[in-house]
Amino acid sequence: MNHNPRHANPYAHVKAPTEEQYHSCIKCGLCVPDCPTYRATFKETESPRGRVMLARKVLEGELEPSKNFQDQMNRCMDCLSCNSICPVGIRPADLALDMRYAAEQVKSTGWKTLLFRHTVQYPGRLEIASLPLRLYQNLGIRWVLHRAGLISRLPAKLRDLENQLPPIPARPLRVRIPRVTRAVDKKEHTVAFFLGCGQSLLHAESSKATIDILAHNGCEIITPRQTRCCGMPARGYGRMDEVLAMARFNINLYETLEVSHIVTDCATCGSMLKEYAHFFKDDHAWADRARRFSEKVRDVSEFLSDIGIKKPPGSFKATVTYHDPCHMIRAQNIRNQPRQLLRLIDGVTFVEMKDAGQCCGSAGTQLVTHYQNSSAILERKIANLADTGAEIVASGCPACRMQLRAGIARAGLNVEVMHPVELLARAYENNPKGDERNG
Ligand code: SF4
Ligand code: SF4
Repeated sequence: MNHNPRHANPYAHVKAPTEEQYHSCIKCGLCVPDCPTYRATFKETESPRGRVMLARKVLEGELEPSKNFQDQMNRCMDCLSCNSICPVGIRPADLALDMRYAAEQVKSTGWKTLLFRHTVQYPGRLEIASLPLRLYQNLGIRWVLHRAGLISRLPAKLRDLENQLPPIPARPLRVRIPRVTRAVDKKEHTVAFFLGCGQSLLHAESSKATIDILAHNGCEIITPRQTRCCGMPARGYGRMDEVLAMARFNINLYETLEVSHIVTDCATCGSMLKEYAHFFKDDHAWADRARRFSEKVRDVSEFLSDIGIKKPPGSFKATVTYHDPCHMIRAQNIRNQPRQLLRLIDGVTFVEMKDAGQCCGSAGTQLVTHYQNSSAILERKIANLADTGAEIVASGCPACRMQLRAGIARAGLNVEVMHPVELLARAYENNPKGDERNG
């Protein structure tokens, strides 16, 4: 192959994408039209094909990995649309993530080391770091600022970030949840619940609802408090060494539990946990252990469908639509199960949203790091949401729900954002015979 390099390849001595990951791109462009960053800008460099070409030139020494180049890799939303459509098996989304990892190995960034090596890996430290957010909500500061109209006077980006926040629990769910929750009636399954850090810190009510619904469906649930972050935030910032450290810890922890499945209610955690098998496939010591772990992982909607969820005894009247998280619909191929859960509830009128599977522009923190792109992508999603006339939009990803909250507030819509299991939980609360739970 004639690479004819003009610059030394800066990634020659680190773990970097190999030729198979980029070389056979035939430039067909099939991946381009559905790419959200391309649709927001119509620039070739913001498309998967453009990113593959840029990465190839850098890896073959034709282009220096400038700040602008790195930014193009960072702007990718990891929505996986390109991965699923490419006819020759190029995975541009993975390539962009791997280029971020290569860059971190060449020049590690101090704040990322502090965040991912010394904070995110340890649930207790993460909880201390997020204390200001809990105080902001629970001391009433947030309420006062909203009532005084000060939030609406903030610059657009700050306002959106504030509006993203759900009602934040006074204490993380991790420290409140019992290690074992008994089945309401007869025990038919013993499962582990993987409580993600975002769920524990910000969306405690939806994870509490998940545990309740599992218990109502014959499950005894073990929730290990030592669980570490699934690793997706670290992966998004190129910190693969920390990802593998967290993965090893979680595999070690969960293989001591005698459970049939590991259930999660976070689309991002689910997709990441299922990928552990791939991360360790060439590691003799860990390959089998990682594979066994990943094979047990189920999204809660997937698990409830598999075991044949019981119809909730009560009803909940609302018009509901659904947004597919990228890490659910493409990473895990889960499309029908969440919709089936919603349709099971008496009183729910389900309305399908146009382009429900299109990215919402969150990708975790893109509203912080790439505000313009993220906002433009979000606006399209919110316009489709408004067209449904729904009072509630359900979604199984905490980051998507936060992004949707920001868009809904910006558009002045009166739409509630919920996890599908929260709707099921409301139908249980509205049980005309009362909750017969035996504790
Ligand atoms: S990455 Fe795949 S789909 Fe995109 S241009 Fe290249 S070959 Fe075509
Ligand atoms: S993952 Fe999504 S945002 Fe990234 S290049 Fe592919 S289609 Fe575009």
